[in-house]
Amino acid sequence: MRVIFLGPPGVGKGTQAEFIAKKYHIPKLSTGDLLRESVDRKTALGKKAKGFMERGELVPDDVVIGLVEEKLASPECQNGFLLDGFPRTVTQADKLSGFLEKMGESLDHVVYFSLPRTDIVKRISGRRSCPECKAVYHLESIPPKRDGVCDVCGMALIQRNDDKPETIESRLAVYQEQTEPLIKYYKHRGILSELDGSGLVAAVQERLLVLLSQPR
Ligand code: AMP
Repeated sequence: MRVIFLGPPGVGKGTQAEFIAKKYHIPKLSTGDLLRESVDRKTALGKKAKGFMERGELVPDDVVIGLVEEKLASPECQNGFLLDGFPRTVTQADKLSGFLEKMGESLDHVVYFSLPRTDIVKRISGRRSCPECKAVYHLESIPPKRDGVCDVCGMALIQRNDDKPETIESRLAVYQEQTEPLIKYYKHRGILSELDGSGLVAAVQERLLVLLSQPR
């Protein structure tokens, strides 16, 4: 299965992507995770990306496209993949489509996660993550068993810098301006399905499984 999860930051794509990737035995490519890893490792790419990420802006297309194409060309992606957080601009979507065409592949689903803005802000501001194993929690909906401590590896949980209130607004504005046009882009190509992202994680998961099991 080749699938894209599209939607605003904080909508719950990452949490569902983790589940779906395991369920369908496909690799999850989250450009946010890959970029954060590069920043942590202080690679050349990470140094380029850091400032943009801290300001809540998009990392330049050429940087992200190179990163994704390298992954997609690797053997682990030959039988499918789940893209979470990519594409985020029309240029990225065009590049992806050209790349897939060249490989003789096509997308099975583009799932657009929708959620009212007030819920998005609540979800982003309550998000906490583990700096070690990258597990993601939410203060209300997915709380860790012990306050502030990762269930998996026991590390102290942190709030991502770009999840702090001062950056949330700019990320949402960037989403609206640069990523939202992709809804029309994929609708026009007949491969977009809208998923109601509201409610409990398990409820969204159920709706998502139904959607993915149906032909578009
Ligand atoms: P995310 O974890 O998906 O919310 O991404 C965190 C940050 O990484 C974003 O705010 C951007 O700065 C950067 N980023 C992630 N994916 C992309 C992308 N496809 N294009 C450009 N920047 C990206």
